Amino acid sequence: MYCLEGRKDENSMDFSLTEEQVLIRDMARDFASRELAPIAGDLDKEEKFPEKQLRMMGELGLMGVNIPEEYGGAEAGSVATSLAIMEIASGCASAAVTMSVTNMVAEVICSFGTEDQKRKYVPRICSGEYSCAAFGLSETGAGSDPGSMKTKAVKSGDEWILNGEKLWISHGDKAGVVIVWARTGGKGTGGISAFLVEQGTEGFTPGKKEDKMGLRASTTVPLLFEDCRIPADALLGEENAGFKVAMMALDGGRIGIASQAIGIARAAQCEAVEYAKERQQFSRPISSFQAVQWMLADNETAISAAESLTLQAA
Ligand SMILES: Cc1cc2nc3c(=O)[nH]c(=O)nc-3n(C[C@H](O)[C@H](O)[C@H](O)COP(=O)(O)OP(=O)(O)OC[C@H]3O[C@@H](n4cnc5c(N)ncnc54)[C@H](O)[C@@H]3O)c2cc1C
Repeated sequence: MYCLEGRKDENSMDFSLTEEQVLIRDMARDFASRELAPIAGDLDKEEKFPEKQLRMMGELGLMGVNIPEEYGGAEAGSVATSLAIMEIASGCASAAVTMSVTNMVAEVICSFGTEDQKRKYVPRICSGEYSCAAFGLSETGAGSDPGSMKTKAVKSGDEWILNGEKLWISHGDKAGVVIVWARTGGKGTGGISAFLVEQGTEGFTPGKKEDKMGLRASTTVPLLFEDCRIPADALLGEENAGFKVAMMALDGGRIGIASQAIGIARAAQCEAVEYAKERQQFSRPISSFQAVQWMLADNETAISAAESLTLQAA
């Protein structure tokens, strides 16, 4: 029997973009080419965090693309978020990682936060009042395996007291608010809770930034918590149910980081094509050599495939 006989196409997709998605993508492309691409190299070399540009992105609606309008977002969906991150990454990879994490944090607060938490933090994130928001899950001994984290939160009256250290937290020193995961119960993934911790809270100190090989305009820092007292209502979601919050966040976060990678790859491909057309050897542009054409065609195939898969996931 022909194996595709009787195949149902309920999973087939309409690949055309909506007018709104095109509008957001084009706006992000325009911003990236005008405000980011011309300075991205210097920002990277000088490890300069693009605070001003990130706030401008907030004002344009790029920090809450998939956030309901009532909390200050653009309410344009996750495909629009992915398209916008691709464009920003083509101009500046560091700005894109910050944008990706910040959108993710806003989405997590919208999904798990109380009404008060949503009203307090999400408009500040979406508007650019905060240049960014951060996600504090990883620790020295807890990377792929967050269930082994050691940072602790202990309830004391109407407060939580945080102690421990987070590691590799993207722009954790710049964020207005950080989601911090800590152990509140027994071992493993069942004893973890999430908290909203504001920058400047006593007992919360960002450490020395990592010296990275790329994304150097995005800081990656440890976060130290020493008897850091936060109010009881800083708990995000239910007590001991923080692992679910982290996993949900990472579902979206992976689409964000994939979008970032595609934006970087697209920009690199574009530069490569331009260079191949310009560079002359043996009295011809090197783009006329079939070996070079094959490399560029293979790149284009891989990037387009990754783009389709990422937008399908979004
Ligand atoms: C630039 C940068 C920014 C970051 N930003 C943040 C941030 O904002 N917030 C945050 O919380 N964290 C952040 N991180 C940390 C990041 O999430 C961790 O690096 C990641 O979770 C992997 O952890 P690890 O580096 O400890 O690798 P490990 O967990 O030690 O893994 C090492 C290797 O083992 C493999 N491996 C692990 N477990 C398995 C398994 N079960 N099966 C098969 N293979 C496995 C991994 O795939 C990997 O190849 C950032 C890291 C970097 C580099």
